[in-house]
Amino acid sequence: MKSKKIKKRRVSKSEYFINISVTLVLVLFGVFFLFVPKVSLNAPLKEIVNINSYYTDKGITISDLFGNKTIIKPLDDINTKKDREYNINYTYKDNIFTYHIPKEVVVKDIEKPKIKLNGNKRAYYCPNGEYKELGFKAYDNVDKDITDKVKVERLKDKIIYTVEDSSGNKREVERKIIAKDVEKPIITLNGDDNIFLNLNEPYIEDNVTISDNCDSDLTSNIKITNDIDNTKVGDYRVTYEVSDSSNNKSKIVRNVKVREPLKTNTIYLTFDDGPRDGTTDVILDILKEKGVKATFFVTMNGSDSLIKRIVDEGHSIGIHTASHRYDLIYASVDNYFNDLEQVRDRIYNITGVDTKLIRFPGGSSNTISKKYKEGIMTTLVNDILNKGYQYYDWNIDSGDASFATNPTKLYNSVINSLSHDKYNVILMHDTKTYTRDALSKIIDYSLTNGYSFESININTMPVRQRLNN
Ligand code: ZN
Repeated sequence: MKSKKIKKRRVSKSEYFINISVTLVLVLFGVFFLFVPKVSLNAPLKEIVNINSYYTDKGITISDLFGNKTIIKPLDDINTKKDREYNINYTYKDNIFTYHIPKEVVVKDIEKPKIKLNGNKRAYYCPNGEYKELGFKAYDNVDKDITDKVKVERLKDKIIYTVEDSSGNKREVERKIIAKDVEKPIITLNGDDNIFLNLNEPYIEDNVTISDNCDSDLTSNIKITNDIDNTKVGDYRVTYEVSDSSNNKSKIVRNVKVREPLKTNTIYLTFDDGPRDGTTDVILDILKEKGVKATFFVTMNGSDSLIKRIVDEGHSIGIHTASHRYDLIYASVDNYFNDLEQVRDRIYNITGVDTKLIRFPGGSSNTISKKYKEGIMTTLVNDILNKGYQYYDWNIDSGDASFATNPTKLYNSVINSLSHDKYNVILMHDTKTYTRDALSKIIDYSLTNGYSFESININTMPVRQRLNN
């Protein structure tokens, strides 16, 4: 066996004290650090804050040995309206020591200016032309409008806009520019969208005007086609088509309506504002007795049975208005059609007739509508035609809503207005007692003097007054 020799070293007295001292110092340090408070940061110790922005310091949280927490805030207020660096100390005192924790807040303009381009970020321009700058605006949070500082650099297929604010923040924006025509030509009709022709009346082409972003004259490219047969009553279309040199195509349509002409030596009795019990029923009796057909532009008034009688007894029925309130129906297109639809539905529900005949309250030439909406009659006239309706004005006002307020005056007014050489579309009101009372004599006079009576239908050429609004 090999014997191990363990050498025992003696520890001297002085070494012993040193060891004890070191141990004591370490323990004391340990105890000391135990009592040092723990700091938690609620925000970084260095913060950069944009000028004019809202800023509030979140402070720091101190926890002591026993877990008690205190939130410490900087004493100074940070003013974000000015460029400045703040060096602040969070200060905390416990029973023994005072601690300082430095905090730095830098207020400065760190926001880039903005560039707003007019037009699209992809701009097309005519292949045979030059790109024209569409414009831009530059705005900065501090310097405000800096449009004049924008540098514009034109490259082959793009434009680069750059701007720098007084704090050195830079913005760069790009616009692609493409030499390609993507815009359709614009076709505008000369003359009306809706043309009425009497049977056998020749159609005269008013043609169109064309404008295009790239091509100056496309007139020779227009293709006009129509399916008009003016020997037959019907609705026809004239189609206008055009392509520009980049093959962008446009097409529009004009409606042509061939109608039976209003007849000379003929009387078209038209009654508005009814039906009304006590007048319309008597008027229907008279018409029946004389074998005369008339046209009634009705409202929501009177008995349903009168609406039914009008249709059952072979008269024409059309829409006048539900409310007859100019301030309402002529205040907007929607109002007009809401009102119209009520009467249309009433007629349809009672008779099954989906009438397309309209008489505007006050006639299409009324000026009162101007008070409620400028230009509304011009709009409505087009809208109703595009919806398949037709409006009928008159060329003789019987005066029963104004001066002819007794049967004799009304009789004289009507017979003095009649003519053998023209058509006679007479405006009357079946709500008036004197109209009821004069009707028999008016019809007798007209028949004795060789006039015929007819009602209006959708194939009848409309009587249209000149629009004034
Ligand atoms: Zn009326």
